[in-house]
Amino acid sequence: MIHGCCLCGNVSYEIDGPVGDIFHCHCVTCRKSQGSAFSSLARVADENFHLYGEDYLNSYESSPGKERFFCTECGAQIYGKREGTDFITLRLGTIDDHPGSEESHHIWVAQKANWYTIDSHLPQHPEFEEN
Ligand SMILES: [Zn+2]
Ligand SMILES: [Zn+2]
Repeated sequence: MIHGCCLCGNVSYEIDGPVGDIFHCHCVTCRKSQGSAFSSLARVADENFHLYGEDYLNSYESSPGKERFFCTECGAQIYGKREGTDFITLRLGTIDDHPGSEESHHIWVAQKANWYTIDSHLPQHPEFEEN
């Protein structure tokens, strides 16, 4: 079982299945919402993601059909969810255990912060990965 929580601990989760490949998203909405150069993400199947403290959860629709869920107490972003998918996209900064997966690539490099240099051997994709 993999555990994680927000900064204040009111929202927590357990994962009882695999965490997908880790990727780093440099899109402008990730940068703005996280207040950082990029966000580190991985997919988790809905059925393996168990959330606690939903009373503290709110969401913001950052693009049509795409919600970003965050803790209303501390503001930490926990996951994103796109309409019609059967997985969530976890914000890996909230995880407390090792996810058991590895970094695989960067996406939305076309929108990366102009003050940040990607020093990485991982593949970089201008937008979404090409497959
Ligand atoms: Zn919190
Ligand atoms: Zn992004």
